Amino acid sequence: MTGKKLAEYRQLLAGKDAAEVLAWSLDEFGPQKVALASSFSTEDQVLSHMLSKISLSARIFTLDTGRQFQETYDVMQRSMDKFGLRYEVCAPAAEDLVALLADAGPNAMYQSLVKREACCAVRKLRPLEKIMQTIDAWICGLRRDQALTRKDLEIIEWDIQQGKYKISPLINWSEADVWRYIKDNGIPYNALYDQGFRSIGCAPCTRATGPDEDIRSGRWWWEEPEHKECGLHKR
Ligand code: SF4
Repeated sequence: MTGKKLAEYRQLLAGKDAAEVLAWSLDEFGPQKVALASSFSTEDQVLSHMLSKISLSARIFTLDTGRQFQETYDVMQRSMDKFGLRYEVCAPAAEDLVALLADAGPNAMYQSLVKREACCAVRKLRPLEKIMQTIDAWICGLRRDQALTRKDLEIIEWDIQQGKYKISPLINWSEADVWRYIKDNGIPYNALYDQGFRSIGCAPCTRATGPDEDIRSGRWWWEEPEHKECGLHKR
C-alpha cells in the first residue's frame, strides 16, 4: 500500500453508492480476497443483503465469541434461511478459552480495561487473525455518526493493525437510512433493537441506551468513551 494508491482509491469511490462500493471491492481485490465482517448489526445486515444481490458466493465472516445473545443467533439463522447467506464462522481456540477462564474468570471484563481487552483478544482478535491471513481487504458496516472514535472515518483506509485495506461503504449513512433500508427490504434484524439496544455486541458487555445517548454508549458502558472499541477497529 502507498499513500498515493489510497488517495486514488478514495477519489475513485467518492461518488459511488454503497452497492457500487461493494461491487468495486469484489472487482478490485478479487472475490476470494475480500470479505465482509458481520456481527449481524443492522449495518452488517444491509451490506450482507447488498452483497448477496451481487454474488451469493461473496465471502462473509462472523466472529462467534461464545458470549452473544440468543437474539443474535436468531438473526444469523433467519438470514441463512431467507437469503441463502452462508457465513465463515471464526471461533476462539479451545485452549485459549480454557486459559482465559481459568486465569481470570468468566466476568473479569468488568474488573479492568486490561482484563476486558484480554477477553476481546481471545474471543475476537485471535480468531480474526486467521481470516485476515486469507484476504487483502475487509468490509465493515462502520458509520461516522456512530461514535466519537469513528467521526473521521474514510471510505477506505489502510488498517495498520491488520495490514489490509478496510472498506466502509456506509460511512455517510445515518441510523435512519439504515432502518429505512432494513424495513423496505424486509431484512431480518436483531429483536433487541426493539428493546432499546442500538449497538449490539456480546451479552455481558452490551446494554440498552436512551434515545439521547451516543449509539455506542451501551457497549462497555463502565469504560471511558475513547476506550469503546474491542480492538477490531482501532485507528
Ligand atoms: S465484548 Fe465482552 S464478552 Fe465479548 S469478547 Fe469483549 S470482553 Fe469478552
